[in-house]
Amino acid sequence: MYYIDIFFLIILAVAGLCVGSFLNVIIYRLPREQSIIKPRSFCPKCGHKIKAYENIPVFSYIFLRGKCSECKEKISVRYPIVEIITAVLWVLPLILLPSYTAIDIANIVIAALFSTVLLAIFIIDFEHLIIPNELVISIIVLSIPAFFTQNDLIVWYEKLIGFAVGGGILYLLAYLSEKFLKKEGVGGGDIKLMAACGLVLGWQNILLSLFVAAIITMIVILLVMTPIKKKLPIGEIVPFAPALSAAMVICLYYGEDIIFWYLTSIMGL
Ligand SMILES: [Zn+2]
Repeated sequence: MYYIDIFFLIILAVAGLCVGSFLNVIIYRLPREQSIIKPRSFCPKCGHKIKAYENIPVFSYIFLRGKCSECKEKISVRYPIVEIITAVLWVLPLILLPSYTAIDIANIVIAALFSTVLLAIFIIDFEHLIIPNELVISIIVLSIPAFFTQNDLIVWYEKLIGFAVGGGILYLLAYLSEKFLKKEGVGGGDIKLMAACGLVLGWQNILLSLFVAAIITMIVILLVMTPIKKKLPIGEIVPFAPALSAAMVICLYYGEDIIFWYLTSIMGL
């Protein structure tokens, strides 16, 4: 690694920590339909307004020993964890994507923002079983500069097809489960999420994401199910967007490799 890379690494890590701090606000307030701009963050127990020096990502949590400075109410360890994961998501594209030209750097920022929004969707859907429209719209907005960093007509078509295929295949699954199983198998939020992400990832990677997400869901269900000897949660709502979000971040970086490996090793092409 060159010095310039280490310099960028530190900048991206710090940016990621700060974005992660704001992401905590989004994750808490969006599903509760509160404004994400006003008011300033406060302790939910005593109403103590969090001062600037108490709002430094990760460090404040350690410095305050995970407690409100006023009433000593415990602050969830989720806050620093989200900040650290976001910092990792911001450093990751620098390590995994080429970074020589201004366009490469634009792609790094787009990949970082894309995975940040997916992290918010991961947590919100897991907790509340909803995918806020605001987050899906921000992915669509993010896909616009992503079009212009890849000045290739074929890639543009792949992304537009990704929008139709991503939304279409989940719409079809929703229709089929409604018709034959007589219940809502796929949520409307999942359909919109797949369409929006197809616009960023292209049709090959969005289909792969769906497949990877299905595998992740199966593994998690088996892991959760076996230790507590519970029945398969058929009929229960299993949030799908967390697995989908994780799968999309995997496919963003490794999708092409996985598809190439599949075509050459398994299909023998
Ligand atoms: Zn307090």
